[in-house]
Amino acid sequence: MNKKNKKAKRMYNIAVIPGDGIGQEVVKAAVTILDKLPIDFNYTYAKAGDECKEETGVPLPDETIELAKNSDAVLFGAAGETAADVIVRLRRELNTFVNLRPVKSLQPDKYGNIDFMIVRENTEDLYIGDEEETPEGAIARKKITKFASERIAKYAFKYAEDTGRKKVTAVHKANVLKLSDGLFKKSFYKIAEQYPDIESNDFYVDATAMYLITNPLDFEVIVTTNLYGDILSDEGAGLVGGLGMIPSANIGDDNGLFEPVHGSAPDIAGQGIANPAATILSACMMLDYLGESQYARKVEEILIDVIQEGSHVTPDLGGDSSTQEMAEYIASKL
Ligand code: ATP
Repeated sequence: MNKKNKKAKRMYNIAVIPGDGIGQEVVKAAVTILDKLPIDFNYTYAKAGDECKEETGVPLPDETIELAKNSDAVLFGAAGETAADVIVRLRRELNTFVNLRPVKSLQPDKYGNIDFMIVRENTEDLYIGDEEETPEGAIARKKITKFASERIAKYAFKYAEDTGRKKVTAVHKANVLKLSDGLFKKSFYKIAEQYPDIESNDFYVDATAMYLITNPLDFEVIVTTNLYGDILSDEGAGLVGGLGMIPSANIGDDNGLFEPVHGSAPDIAGQGIANPAATILSACMMLDYLGESQYARKVEEILIDVIQEGSHVTPDLGGDSSTQEMAEYIASKL
């Protein structure tokens, strides 16, 4: 995932887009921790989301897109109702064709030792947003290409190879969507031939939804299309302590954008109780991407200790600390 295998350079221009709701709170928490590292981050804050639309008339201003494109990495919080116009568009503008969503238990005693990676195709599927009204209702078009399907399969196998994982599972619904998901499945097995040392299998998405509950330890790497990846990663979050726990990395050839899997959570926004772990772990994925893996591991290690210790954690983790108190406690241990 390292940015073109660049060597760490210790000075990075980071575009920070906190967005809406708890996005503001969790991004502040992650920056509190990044600030404690012996790395020079030059942050430029930019607007996007519902509030931005209210203020400026557009949810994703051109300046924000330009800034994101010209930075070393982007740290993103959340967008509310405008998510499709903000984060889905940003991923497209930056051509971040893979969305990595690690599902890992940080409280093994409680949840079992779950540890798998969801490799989600990030540019196609129903997320192209090609919908139209018809006299009867509406139609949404689903786009699946051979190019993008092979590219994501290759990424998944390469990821497995690089990280010592032994199995890659493709998830689709090719029995019903014979042409589109059928092509995704066929592309997957074509690429699998190039990786004979890695086991490959595939499941329908509905069966996968059940197996994730009944046999979560059987999964190592899941590669899937855009919509299924989105849904299964929220299910994965449910397995390992909730949406506050799952980070993500959007990676392309030239750009990386890092964001928690959760959204703006309007029900808890402004209360200072959002779990910052997902965003802190997203910042760790950003450190990996920038070639600063030693600091990524250090922050992760401390975060896991703090969660397991349980005395300075947010209410969803059984504590009574605020978002910022949890972040400052982690920072104090760095
Ligand atoms: P959006 O429309 O922006 O996606 P949402 O409320 O539909 O917002 P999420 O933001 O993903 O969806 O959150 C779903 C629920 O999960 C929230 O209502 C909240 O209770 C919980 N949640 C999400 N993120 C966190 C977090 N970081 N810490 C604690 N709880 C969270």
